[in-house]
Amino acid sequence: MCRTCHASKTDIQRKYLEGQFQKRNAADHLEKVTLMEGLSKAGFKYWSKQWGINLRSPLLEIEDIDLSVCLVQDPMHILTEGLLVKELCLMLYDFIVFKRYFTISFLNNALNDFSHSYLVEKNKPEVISVDMLLNCRLNQTSASMITLCCVLPLVIGQKVQVGNGKWKTFLLLIQITLLATSPYATDDTASVLEQLIYTHNDNFISEYTKSPLTPKSHYLVHIPKQIQRFGPGRNHWVMRFEGKHLFFKNIKWKCFKNIALSMSMRHQLWMCWRQLRVNGKCSENFLYSGDSIANMEAVDSPLSLSGEGLFKDIKLACVFFVYCKRS
Ligand SMILES: [Zn+2]
Repeated sequence: MCRTCHASKTDIQRKYLEGQFQKRNAADHLEKVTLMEGLSKAGFKYWSKQWGINLRSPLLEIEDIDLSVCLVQDPMHILTEGLLVKELCLMLYDFIVFKRYFTISFLNNALNDFSHSYLVEKNKPEVISVDMLLNCRLNQTSASMITLCCVLPLVIGQKVQVGNGKWKTFLLLIQITLLATSPYATDDTASVLEQLIYTHNDNFISEYTKSPLTPKSHYLVHIPKQIQRFGPGRNHWVMRFEGKHLFFKNIKWKCFKNIALSMSMRHQLWMCWRQLRVNGKCSENFLYSGDSIANMEAVDSPLSLSGEGLFKDIKLACVFFVYCKRS
């Protein structure tokens, strides 16, 4: 069920423009929620499935929030953890197993030998196997999927037959990904994106006759309007939230007496370490010529961070709390 419109399973296979779907709206949603609350358990379960509503959202208490508009579609889950993975697997499996344009070892060697920018050093693509392609599951993070898609045309482009429909469709998906996750958008971005999505979905249906469009292909049609309303797609994705969450998730906590305090302490010390160089001076990556630093004082570090970083003197760098104030 789409959170923005009332699209049915059959509709999403043949309609690729947002204007072709009946939108949800705040008044209609509220009416349905109120109706459902008066139903029996069985009735609630039935209409919950029909209408795609599970419960009265606490967000409804806030004035001027239309849930059908303000709960945005996330480009990261739709594209880098959804459509890109599926389509890339289907396409590469066809190229490697059926068309035999190249082998899986050629692909892995070419990706490994590719001279990646230092900016994506931590997000290089992982090794791909035929089993992964067959099961449509790649062992890649969202960031490495974006790297992989940017690099792939340079790596296998010359091996693919000119005019191959699957390849053309995938190139459209790469353009859609780059536009939908860009930190910059103009007035034209939404209309170009809308056209690309329409062409991509239409081509996908004809190229992959045995693989129907997934719900994520439909959610994609709402992104152009979303960009018009809320600005560049980069601001709508959860990549940064998940990245930050990973910091806390990756730490093996042993003391749960006051977990909130432990987490905030660990985070602040880590930020101090990031803002300082090994010699204890400020890092220019965070502090610029316009910044002034006051009340710098040494405190004892309650946490042992040894072995976590590249520097041996990491403990030394972490014993300062820096209060910085932009002048
Ligand atoms: Zn929809």
